[in-house]
Amino acid sequence: MSTDSATPNPLVARMRGFGTTIFAEMSALAVQTGAINLGQGFPDTDGPASMLARAAEAIASGANQYPPGPGVPELRQAVSDHRRDHYGLAYDPGGEILVTVGATEAIAASVLALCEPGDEVIAFEPYYDSYAASIALAGARLVAVTLRPVEGRFTFDPAELRAAITPRTRAILVNSPHNPTGTVFTRDELTEIAGLCQEFGLTAITDEVYEHLTFDGAEHIPLATLPGMRERTVMISSAGKTFSVTGWKTGWICAPAPLVRAVQTVKQFLTFTSSAPWQLAVAHGLRHELDWVAGLRAELEGKRDRLMEGLRAAGFEVLKPLGTYFVQTDIRPLGHTDGLKLTRDLPALAGVVAIPTQVFYDHPERGSHFVRFAFCKKDEVIDEAVARLKVLGR
Ligand SMILES: *Cc1c(COP(=O)(O)O)cnc(C)c1O
Repeated sequence: MSTDSATPNPLVARMRGFGTTIFAEMSALAVQTGAINLGQGFPDTDGPASMLARAAEAIASGANQYPPGPGVPELRQAVSDHRRDHYGLAYDPGGEILVTVGATEAIAASVLALCEPGDEVIAFEPYYDSYAASIALAGARLVAVTLRPVEGRFTFDPAELRAAITPRTRAILVNSPHNPTGTVFTRDELTEIAGLCQEFGLTAITDEVYEHLTFDGAEHIPLATLPGMRERTVMISSAGKTFSVTGWKTGWICAPAPLVRAVQTVKQFLTFTSSAPWQLAVAHGLRHELDWVAGLRAELEGKRDRLMEGLRAAGFEVLKPLGTYFVQTDIRPLGHTDGLKLTRDLPALAGVVAIPTQVFYDHPERGSHFVRFAFCKKDEVIDEAVARLKVLGR
Protein backbone atom coordinates (compact mmCIF):
# COMPACT_ATOMS: atom_id res chain seq x y z
CA MET A 1 0.00 0.00 0.00
CA SER A 2 1.34 3.45 -0.89
CA THR A 3 2.06 5.86 1.95
CA ASP A 4 3.26 8.61 -0.41
CA SER A 5 2.05 11.84 1.18
CA ALA A 6 2.09 13.47 -2.27
CA THR A 7 -0.86 11.27 -3.28
CA PRO A 8 -3.32 11.47 -0.42
CA ASN A 9 -6.77 10.03 -0.95
CA PRO A 10 -8.60 12.76 -2.87
CA LEU A 11 -12.01 11.44 -1.77
CA VAL A 12 -13.90 13.51 0.80
CA ALA A 13 -13.82 11.96 4.25
CA ARG A 14 -17.55 11.35 4.44
CA MET A 15 -17.43 9.06 1.39
CA ARG A 16 -14.45 6.96 2.44
CA GLY A 17 -15.54 3.46 3.23
CA PHE A 18 -17.73 3.47 0.12
CA GLY A 19 -14.95 2.22 -2.16
CA THR A 20 -15.58 -0.77 -4.39
CA THR A 21 -18.79 -2.54 -3.64
CA ILE A 22 -19.08 -6.25 -3.01
CA PHE A 23 -21.05 -6.46 -6.28
CA ALA A 24 -18.06 -5.30 -8.31
CA GLU A 25 -15.77 -7.72 -6.46
CA MET A 26 -18.10 -10.69 -6.86
CA SER A 27 -19.03 -9.96 -10.48
CA ALA A 28 -15.30 -9.72 -11.32
CA LEU A 29 -14.80 -13.08 -9.58
CA ALA A 30 -17.62 -14.53 -11.67
CA VAL A 31 -15.97 -13.34 -14.88
CA GLN A 32 -12.49 -14.54 -13.83
CA THR A 33 -13.64 -18.00 -12.81
CA GLY A 34 -16.54 -18.56 -15.22
CA ALA A 35 -18.84 -19.01 -12.24
CA ILE A 36 -22.62 -18.59 -12.49
CA ASN A 37 -23.50 -15.17 -11.10
CA LEU A 38 -26.40 -15.34 -8.64
CA GLY A 39 -24.95 -12.28 -6.93
CA GLN A 40 -26.22 -9.14 -8.57
CA GLY A 41 -29.99 -8.74 -8.91
CA PHE A 42 -30.68 -8.03 -12.54
CA PRO A 43 -32.86 -10.20 -14.80
CA ASP A 44 -31.36 -12.04 -17.77
CA THR A 45 -34.48 -11.61 -19.92
CA ASP A 46 -36.06 -8.50 -21.51
CA GLY A 47 -39.07 -6.44 -20.54
CA PRO A 48 -42.37 -6.36 -22.50
CA ALA A 49 -41.81 -6.08 -26.25
CA SER A 50 -44.32 -3.27 -26.83
CA MET A 51 -42.60 -1.16 -24.20
CA LEU A 52 -39.18 -1.71 -25.77
CA ALA A 53 -40.69 -0.78 -29.15
CA ARG A 54 -42.20 2.37 -27.64
CA ALA A 55 -38.72 3.49 -26.50
CA ALA A 56 -37.28 2.95 -29.99
CA GLU A 57 -40.22 4.80 -31.53
CA ALA A 58 -39.79 7.68 -29.07
CA ILE A 59 -36.17 8.12 -30.19
CA ALA A 60 -37.06 7.80 -33.89
CA SER A 61 -39.87 10.33 -33.57
CA GLY A 62 -37.83 13.05 -31.91
CA ALA A 63 -38.20 12.73 -28.11
CA ASN A 64 -34.53 13.59 -27.82
CA GLN A 65 -34.31 16.96 -26.10
CA TYR A 66 -34.65 17.97 -22.45
CA PRO A 67 -38.04 16.93 -21.14
CA PRO A 68 -39.69 19.07 -18.43
CA GLY A 69 -37.88 18.97 -15.06
CA PRO A 70 -40.64 17.14 -13.18
CA GLY A 71 -40.92 14.53 -15.97
CA VAL A 72 -42.95 14.14 -19.16
CA PRO A 73 -46.68 14.73 -18.54
CA GLU A 74 -47.57 11.28 -20.02
CA LEU A 75 -45.52 9.48 -17.36
CA ARG A 76 -46.66 11.65 -14.46
CA GLN A 77 -50.28 11.01 -15.48
CA ALA A 78 -49.66 7.27 -15.88
CA VAL A 79 -48.04 7.10 -12.42
CA SER A 80 -50.92 9.05 -10.93
CA ASP A 81 -53.53 6.75 -12.51
CA HIS A 82 -51.58 3.67 -11.43
CA ARG A 83 -51.37 4.82 -7.78
CA ARG A 84 -55.11 5.57 -7.80
CA ASP A 85 -56.12 2.26 -9.44
CA HIS A 86 -53.83 0.05 -7.34
CA TYR A 87 -53.77 1.71 -3.98
CA GLY A 88 -56.57 4.27 -3.93
CA LEU A 89 -53.98 7.04 -3.51
CA ALA A 90 -54.55 10.35 -5.29
CA TYR A 91 -51.45 12.26 -6.42
CA ASP A 92 -51.75 15.33 -8.62
CA PRO A 93 -49.51 14.88 -11.69
CA GLY A 94 -49.18 18.67 -11.70
CA GLY A 95 -47.17 18.95 -8.48
CA GLU A 96 -47.16 15.76 -6.46
CA ILE A 97 -45.13 13.53 -8.81
CA LEU A 98 -41.49 13.88 -9.80
CA VAL A 99 -39.71 11.61 -12.29
CA THR A 100 -36.14 10.71 -11.31
CA VAL A 101 -33.12 8.85 -12.67
CA GLY A 102 -34.18 5.57 -11.09
CA ALA A 103 -35.13 5.02 -7.49
CA THR A 104 -31.48 5.58 -6.64
CA GLU A 105 -31.63 9.28 -7.52
CA ALA A 106 -35.03 9.56 -5.84
CA ILE A 107 -33.55 8.26 -2.58
CA ALA A 108 -30.42 10.42 -2.80
CA ALA A 109 -32.34 13.58 -3.69
CA SER A 110 -34.90 12.94 -0.93
CA VAL A 111 -32.26 12.48 1.75
CA LEU A 112 -30.25 15.48 0.52
CA ALA A 113 -33.38 17.63 0.40
CA LEU A 114 -34.87 16.64 3.74
CA CYS A 115 -31.94 15.97 6.10
CA GLU A 116 -29.63 18.54 7.67
CA PRO A 117 -26.05 17.59 8.55
CA GLY A 118 -26.17 15.80 11.89
CA ASP A 119 -29.75 14.59 11.46
CA GLU A 120 -30.40 10.90 11.96
CA VAL A 121 -32.13 8.63 9.48
CA ILE A 122 -33.38 5.23 10.55
CA ALA A 123 -33.14 2.28 8.16
CA PHE A 124 -33.68 -1.41 8.69
CA GLU A 125 -30.55 -3.51 8.29
CA PRO A 126 -29.60 -5.38 6.21
CA TYR A 127 -30.23 -2.39 3.92
CA TYR A 128 -29.80 -1.53 0.21
CA ASP A 129 -26.29 -0.15 -0.15
CA SER A 130 -27.19 3.26 -1.60
CA TYR A 131 -28.97 4.31 1.62
CA ALA A 132 -25.79 4.62 3.67
CA ALA A 133 -23.99 6.50 0.87
CA SER A 134 -26.88 8.95 0.34
CA ILE A 135 -27.12 9.62 4.06
CA ALA A 136 -23.34 10.14 4.25
CA LEU A 137 -23.47 12.57 1.30
CA ALA A 138 -26.01 14.61 3.23
CA GLY A 139 -23.75 14.63 6.29
CA ALA A 140 -26.53 12.88 8.18
CA ARG A 141 -26.20 9.71 10.24
CA LEU A 142 -27.74 6.32 9.52
CA VAL A 143 -29.17 4.54 12.55
CA ALA A 144 -29.74 0.87 11.76
CA VAL A 145 -32.52 -1.22 13.29
CA THR A 146 -31.87 -4.92 12.73
CA LEU A 147 -34.27 -7.29 11.02
CA ARG A 148 -33.95 -10.80 12.43
CA PRO A 149 -35.56 -14.08 11.40
CA VAL A 150 -38.55 -15.04 13.52
CA GLU A 151 -40.10 -18.31 12.40
CA GLY A 152 -38.24 -18.11 9.10
CA ARG A 153 -39.16 -14.51 8.26
CA PHE A 154 -37.09 -11.36 8.85
CA THR A 155 -38.85 -8.82 11.05
CA PHE A 156 -38.06 -6.03 13.55
CA ASP A 157 -38.68 -5.59 17.25
CA PRO A 158 -40.99 -2.57 17.70
CA ALA A 159 -39.31 -1.71 21.02
CA GLU A 160 -35.93 -1.57 19.25
CA LEU A 161 -37.37 0.70 16.58
CA ARG A 162 -38.80 3.05 19.21
CA ALA A 163 -35.51 3.05 21.12
CA ALA A 164 -33.62 4.07 17.96
CA ILE A 165 -35.53 7.37 17.75
CA THR A 166 -33.80 10.42 19.23
CA PRO A 167 -34.47 14.17 19.09
CA ARG A 168 -32.20 14.23 16.00
CA THR A 169 -34.19 11.64 14.07
CA ARG A 170 -35.56 13.27 10.93
CA ALA A 171 -36.69 10.43 8.71
CA ILE A 172 -37.13 6.70 8.38
CA LEU A 173 -36.32 4.80 5.20
CA VAL A 174 -38.74 1.92 4.70
CA ASN A 175 -38.09 -0.64 1.98
CA SER A 176 -40.89 -3.13 1.39
CA PRO A 177 -40.82 -5.61 -0.29
CA HIS A 178 -37.40 -5.67 1.32
CA ASN A 179 -34.08 -6.24 -0.42
CA PRO A 180 -32.12 -8.27 0.65
CA THR A 181 -34.39 -10.27 3.00
CA GLY A 182 -37.52 -10.71 0.85
CA THR A 183 -39.74 -9.59 3.72
CA VAL A 184 -43.00 -7.87 2.77
CA PHE A 185 -44.04 -5.77 5.76
CA THR A 186 -47.46 -6.67 7.14
CA ARG A 187 -50.15 -4.17 8.00
CA ASP A 188 -49.27 -4.65 11.69
CA GLU A 189 -45.61 -3.85 11.08
CA LEU A 190 -46.49 -0.82 8.96
CA THR A 191 -48.92 0.36 11.64
CA GLU A 192 -46.07 0.30 14.19
CA ILE A 193 -43.90 2.37 11.86
CA ALA A 194 -46.73 4.78 11.04
CA GLY A 195 -47.52 5.29 14.72
CA LEU A 196 -43.91 6.22 15.52
CA CYS A 197 -43.66 8.55 12.50
CA GLN A 198 -46.69 10.45 13.78
CA GLU A 199 -45.69 10.41 17.43
CA PHE A 200 -42.21 11.79 16.69
CA GLY A 201 -42.93 13.88 13.58
CA LEU A 202 -40.78 11.81 11.23
CA THR A 203 -40.88 11.82 7.45
CA ALA A 204 -41.11 8.38 5.85
CA ILE A 205 -39.13 7.74 2.68
CA THR A 206 -40.42 4.51 1.19
CA ASP A 207 -38.54 2.41 -1.35
CA GLU A 208 -41.18 0.34 -3.13
CA VAL A 209 -39.27 -0.75 -6.23
CA TYR A 210 -40.46 -4.36 -5.75
CA GLU A 211 -44.10 -3.31 -5.25
CA HIS A 212 -45.34 -5.77 -7.91
CA LEU A 213 -42.94 -8.63 -7.21
CA THR A 214 -44.67 -10.41 -4.31
CA PHE A 215 -45.44 -14.13 -3.97
CA ASP A 216 -47.89 -16.56 -2.39
CA GLY A 217 -50.59 -13.89 -2.53
CA ALA A 218 -48.67 -11.52 -0.23
CA GLU A 219 -50.05 -8.01 -0.59
CA HIS A 220 -47.76 -5.00 -0.89
CA ILE A 221 -49.23 -2.22 1.27
CA PRO A 222 -47.77 1.24 0.66
CA LEU A 223 -47.07 3.01 3.96
CA ALA A 224 -48.75 6.11 2.51
CA THR A 225 -52.11 4.29 2.51
CA LEU A 226 -52.14 4.09 6.33
CA PRO A 227 -54.14 6.76 8.18
CA GLY A 228 -52.20 9.99 8.57
CA MET A 229 -49.25 8.83 6.46
CA ARG A 230 -49.85 10.27 3.00
CA GLU A 231 -48.94 13.77 4.14
CA ARG A 232 -45.60 12.69 5.64
CA THR A 233 -44.45 10.07 3.12
CA VAL A 234 -42.17 10.35 0.11
CA MET A 235 -43.20 7.27 -1.86
CA ILE A 236 -40.56 6.02 -4.29
CA SER A 237 -40.74 3.45 -7.04
CA SER A 238 -39.14 2.69 -10.38
CA ALA A 239 -39.61 0.83 -13.65
CA GLY A 240 -36.42 -1.23 -13.39
CA LYS A 241 -37.69 -4.18 -11.36
CA THR A 242 -41.35 -4.00 -12.40
CA PHE A 243 -40.61 -4.24 -16.13
CA SER A 244 -37.19 -5.97 -16.11
CA VAL A 245 -35.47 -2.85 -17.46
CA THR A 246 -32.92 -2.15 -14.74
CA GLY A 247 -30.75 -0.34 -17.30
CA TRP A 248 -33.40 2.28 -17.99
CA LYS A 249 -32.99 4.03 -14.64
CA THR A 250 -36.44 5.58 -14.62
CA GLY A 251 -38.06 6.14 -11.24
CA TRP A 252 -40.47 8.50 -9.52
CA ILE A 253 -41.53 10.12 -6.30
CA CYS A 254 -45.11 10.65 -5.16
CA ALA A 255 -45.61 13.00 -2.20
CA PRO A 256 -47.48 16.11 -1.11
CA ALA A 257 -46.44 19.21 -3.10
CA PRO A 258 -44.13 20.78 -0.45
CA LEU A 259 -42.11 17.55 -0.20
CA VAL A 260 -41.95 17.16 -3.98
CA ARG A 261 -40.83 20.79 -4.34
CA ALA A 262 -38.05 20.19 -1.80
CA VAL A 263 -36.83 17.04 -3.54
CA GLN A 264 -37.07 18.67 -6.97
CA THR A 265 -34.94 21.57 -5.76
CA VAL A 266 -32.11 19.08 -5.24
CA LYS A 267 -32.87 16.85 -8.23
CA GLN A 268 -32.71 19.73 -10.69
CA PHE A 269 -29.04 20.26 -9.82
CA LEU A 270 -28.12 16.59 -9.74
CA THR A 271 -29.47 15.73 -13.19
CA PHE A 272 -31.98 18.52 -14.05
CA THR A 273 -34.27 15.99 -15.71
CA SER A 274 -34.46 12.31 -16.64
CA SER A 275 -34.11 10.74 -20.13
CA ALA A 276 -37.13 11.39 -22.34
CA PRO A 277 -37.49 8.18 -24.40
CA TRP A 278 -37.57 5.89 -21.37
CA GLN A 279 -40.17 8.06 -19.70
CA LEU A 280 -42.53 7.73 -22.66
CA ALA A 281 -41.94 3.99 -22.83
CA VAL A 282 -42.53 3.50 -19.10
CA ALA A 283 -45.77 5.49 -19.36
CA HIS A 284 -46.80 2.99 -22.03
CA GLY A 285 -45.78 0.09 -19.78
CA LEU A 286 -47.81 1.34 -16.82
CA ARG A 287 -50.87 1.76 -19.06
CA HIS A 288 -50.66 -1.38 -21.20
CA GLU A 289 -48.29 -3.97 -19.77
CA LEU A 290 -49.45 -4.73 -16.23
CA ASP A 291 -50.60 -8.18 -17.41
CA TRP A 292 -47.02 -8.81 -18.46
CA VAL A 293 -45.98 -7.83 -14.93
CA ALA A 294 -48.47 -10.33 -13.46
CA GLY A 295 -46.84 -12.98 -15.66
CA LEU A 296 -43.40 -11.94 -14.43
CA ARG A 297 -44.56 -12.24 -10.83
CA ALA A 298 -45.85 -15.80 -11.43
CA GLU A 299 -42.67 -16.73 -13.24
CA LEU A 300 -40.47 -15.36 -10.46
CA GLU A 301 -42.47 -17.27 -7.86
CA GLY A 302 -41.64 -20.48 -9.75
CA LYS A 303 -37.96 -19.50 -9.94
CA ARG A 304 -37.95 -18.74 -6.22
CA ASP A 305 -39.30 -22.23 -5.49
CA ARG A 306 -36.82 -23.82 -7.87
CA LEU A 307 -33.85 -22.09 -6.25
CA MET A 308 -35.10 -22.69 -2.70
CA GLU A 309 -35.50 -26.39 -3.34
CA GLY A 310 -32.03 -26.63 -4.84
CA LEU A 311 -30.43 -24.68 -1.99
CA ARG A 312 -32.14 -26.89 0.59
CA ALA A 313 -30.94 -30.00 -1.24
CA ALA A 314 -27.41 -28.54 -1.15
CA GLY A 315 -27.64 -28.23 2.64
CA PHE A 316 -28.48 -24.55 3.21
CA GLU A 317 -31.20 -23.43 5.59
CA VAL A 318 -33.47 -21.37 3.37
CA LEU A 319 -35.53 -18.36 4.54
CA LYS A 320 -38.54 -18.07 2.25
CA PRO A 321 -38.96 -14.61 0.69
CA LEU A 322 -42.45 -13.25 -0.04
CA GLY A 323 -41.12 -10.66 -2.49
CA THR A 324 -38.11 -9.34 -4.47
CA TYR A 325 -35.49 -11.27 -6.45
CA PHE A 326 -33.60 -12.76 -3.50
CA VAL A 327 -33.41 -15.74 -1.18
CA GLN A 328 -31.54 -15.59 2.12
CA THR A 329 -29.79 -18.68 3.32
CA ASP A 330 -28.27 -19.56 6.68
CA ILE A 331 -24.95 -21.30 6.04
CA ARG A 332 -24.46 -22.83 9.50
CA PRO A 333 -26.02 -26.21 8.64
CA LEU A 334 -23.19 -26.57 6.08
CA GLY A 335 -20.63 -26.07 8.83
CA HIS A 336 -19.78 -22.47 7.85
CA THR A 337 -20.15 -19.31 9.94
CA ASP A 338 -18.54 -16.57 7.82
CA GLY A 339 -20.55 -15.71 4.71
CA LEU A 340 -17.86 -13.36 3.39
CA LYS A 341 -15.29 -16.14 3.44
CA LEU A 342 -17.70 -18.66 1.96
CA THR A 343 -18.78 -16.38 -0.91
CA ARG A 344 -15.15 -15.56 -1.73
CA ASP A 345 -14.41 -19.31 -1.86
CA LEU A 346 -17.63 -20.33 -3.58
CA PRO A 347 -16.56 -19.69 -7.21
CA ALA A 348 -13.58 -22.05 -6.77
CA LEU A 349 -15.50 -24.52 -4.61
CA ALA A 350 -18.67 -24.74 -6.65
CA GLY A 351 -18.56 -22.36 -9.61
CA VAL A 352 -21.28 -20.08 -8.21
CA VAL A 353 -21.24 -16.45 -7.09
CA ALA A 354 -23.47 -15.20 -4.25
CA ILE A 355 -23.45 -12.13 -2.00
CA PRO A 356 -22.50 -12.18 1.70
CA THR A 357 -25.43 -10.55 3.49
CA GLN A 358 -23.12 -9.05 6.14
CA VAL A 359 -22.13 -6.26 3.72
CA PHE A 360 -25.63 -4.81 4.11
CA TYR A 361 -25.27 -4.30 7.88
CA ASP A 362 -23.86 -1.65 10.19
CA HIS A 363 -23.44 -4.57 12.60
CA PRO A 364 -21.94 -7.17 10.20
CA GLU A 365 -21.67 -9.79 12.95
CA ARG A 366 -25.48 -9.92 13.00
CA GLY A 367 -25.55 -11.05 9.38
CA SER A 368 -22.31 -13.00 9.06
CA HIS A 369 -24.04 -16.39 8.70
CA PHE A 370 -26.38 -15.30 5.89
CA VAL A 371 -25.72 -15.50 2.15
CA ARG A 372 -27.98 -14.00 -0.53
CA PHE A 373 -28.79 -15.69 -3.85
CA ALA A 374 -30.70 -14.02 -6.72
CA PHE A 375 -33.33 -16.00 -8.63
CA CYS A 376 -34.20 -13.48 -11.38
CA LYS A 377 -32.37 -15.76 -13.83
CA LYS A 378 -33.31 -18.25 -16.54
CA ASP A 379 -34.47 -21.64 -15.21
CA GLU A 380 -31.53 -23.44 -16.81
CA VAL A 381 -29.12 -21.06 -15.08
CA ILE A 382 -30.75 -21.74 -11.70
CA ASP A 383 -30.72 -25.49 -12.36
CA GLU A 384 -27.04 -25.48 -13.29
CA ALA A 385 -26.18 -23.39 -10.20
CA VAL A 386 -27.99 -25.70 -7.78
CA ALA A 387 -26.46 -28.77 -9.44
CA ARG A 388 -23.02 -27.24 -8.85
CA LEU A 389 -23.81 -26.30 -5.24
CA LYS A 390 -24.43 -29.94 -4.36
CA VAL A 391 -20.65 -30.38 -3.84
CA LEU A 392 -20.98 -28.32 -0.65
CA GLY A 393 -23.03 -30.92 1.17
CA ARG A 394 -20.62 -33.71 0.32
C1 LIG B 1 -32.72 -2.00 -7.51
C2 LIG B 1 -33.06 -1.24 -6.27
C3 LIG B 1 -33.07 0.17 -6.26
C4 LIG B 1 -32.59 0.99 -7.43
O1 LIG B 1 -33.54 1.19 -8.37
P1 LIG B 1 -33.17 2.00 -9.72
O2 LIG B 1 -34.48 2.37 -10.25
O3 LIG B 1 -32.39 1.07 -10.57
O4 LIG B 1 -32.34 3.17 -9.32
C5 LIG B 1 -33.46 0.82 -5.11
N1 LIG B 1 -33.82 0.13 -4.01
C6 LIG B 1 -33.81 -1.22 -3.98
C7 LIG B 1 -34.19 -1.92 -2.73
C8 LIG B 1 -33.41 -1.95 -5.10
O5 LIG B 1 -33.35 -3.28 -5.04
